[in-house]
Amino acid sequence: MTHPTLSDVVSCLSDYDPDALPVAQAQQIIRTFVTPVNAVEKVALRAALDRVLATDIVSPIDVPAHDNSAMDGYALRSADLDADAAAVLQIIGTAYAGKRYDGAVGKGQCVRIMTGAVMPVECDTVVPQEFTKNASDSSVTVPAGMVRAGDNRRFKGEDLQAGKPALSKGKILRPADIGLLASLGIAEAPVQRRLRVAFFSTGDELRSIGEPLDEGCVYDSNRYTLYGMLTRLGCDMIDMGVVKDDPASLEAAFRCACESADAIITSGGVSVGAADYTKQMMAQMGDVTFWKIGMRPGRPMAFGKISSNGRSAYLFGLPGNPVAVMVTFYFFARDALLHMMGAQMPPLPLMRATSRSAIRKKPGRTEYQRGILSLDANGNQQVDITGAQGSGILRSMSEANCMVVLHHEQGSVHAGDPVDVLLFDGLI
Ligand code: AMP
Ligand code: MG
Repeated sequence: MTHPTLSDVVSCLSDYDPDALPVAQAQQIIRTFVTPVNAVEKVALRAALDRVLATDIVSPIDVPAHDNSAMDGYALRSADLDADAAAVLQIIGTAYAGKRYDGAVGKGQCVRIMTGAVMPVECDTVVPQEFTKNASDSSVTVPAGMVRAGDNRRFKGEDLQAGKPALSKGKILRPADIGLLASLGIAEAPVQRRLRVAFFSTGDELRSIGEPLDEGCVYDSNRYTLYGMLTRLGCDMIDMGVVKDDPASLEAAFRCACESADAIITSGGVSVGAADYTKQMMAQMGDVTFWKIGMRPGRPMAFGKISSNGRSAYLFGLPGNPVAVMVTFYFFARDALLHMMGAQMPPLPLMRATSRSAIRKKPGRTEYQRGILSLDANGNQQVDITGAQGSGILRSMSEANCMVVLHHEQGSVHAGDPVDVLLFDGLI
């Protein structure tokens, strides 16, 4: 099957306009165009943390393997209990976790049992130790009404059943998941190989830290935010530094990135009017489109696929402004990279919060304002905007704990109106 070109993909959209592209359409085009990298490796369980599971895992065993006790107490036959009177039961033995009681349990008898110990066959209920009275070595009293039949018994296979799916392919393995695999006795997990992402910054005004800051120059901060965001996604990175805005350097950088990575992320040089060679080189090297997206911050963006010497890589040409880089990364590159990694992630949930202030907003573009979500005196969620929202003001991201998402069609917000927020936790 030949891979569709970008023009194939956009030809399916009736109202495609690269100069006024809604966020949702850009996301849809990217999602259709990128394909997962299918390469599997087996890693030891601990090393599988935060990796993408490459195959479904079917449970080889029942967990737990036997019916067992959920409490320290006495295993008994519920038929021996009386709804109106205390029952005095004879203790005939003890069941420990890992050491079962093998004898038969007759009428009026019980077994002292520890949490996790296998239930004696005849017993269906456990009365917790603290509910009993007059316990001696040979007998114990269970007052009326303390337990119902079946209480405090954990069933064989109630956590995971042999032959049933335990984890699905595409899951990003979290602490609970590697614990769950351990509970199945699985020592190694099949995971997708890490995605390789090359990135560089473009712009003659950029200086790397350690260099003197010449007149009119700025330190390159985008490579550091990109490093952070890519690290959180679990990518392998090729940091290619700052690339000067001249054709030879840019071509060399794009070729090198293309030949060594699955995806390339650049920042800067994609806005209109930029007198530079970045866009020219991107267009020359492959199937790349230049968008003006209906969003703030982050309007200009390049997207496509470039090739060099028979190797190709997806390209995300992000804008230069530091906040725009982060926002376009989170709302376009992140989802595409996760898809390339083979991850199956449900969309991040938006939460509702009351905006403490009025926010001016024009319908026809999506805005991502940086916010601080907190609780008011009544425990309700409220959100404040983190001061100046310029796309060059990285402090607005640093101070925020969420993004206030003002949707495409939405207009201005009045103080006290509910707004949608996306928490940074989960996103980053
Ligand atoms: P551009 O998209 O190249 O026109 O850049 C837009 C703005 O972002 C300019 O003010 C640049 O100086 C700034 N900028 C571009 N790249 C970086 C970077 N790597 N680190 C910090 N600021 C940058
Ligand atoms: Mg520039």
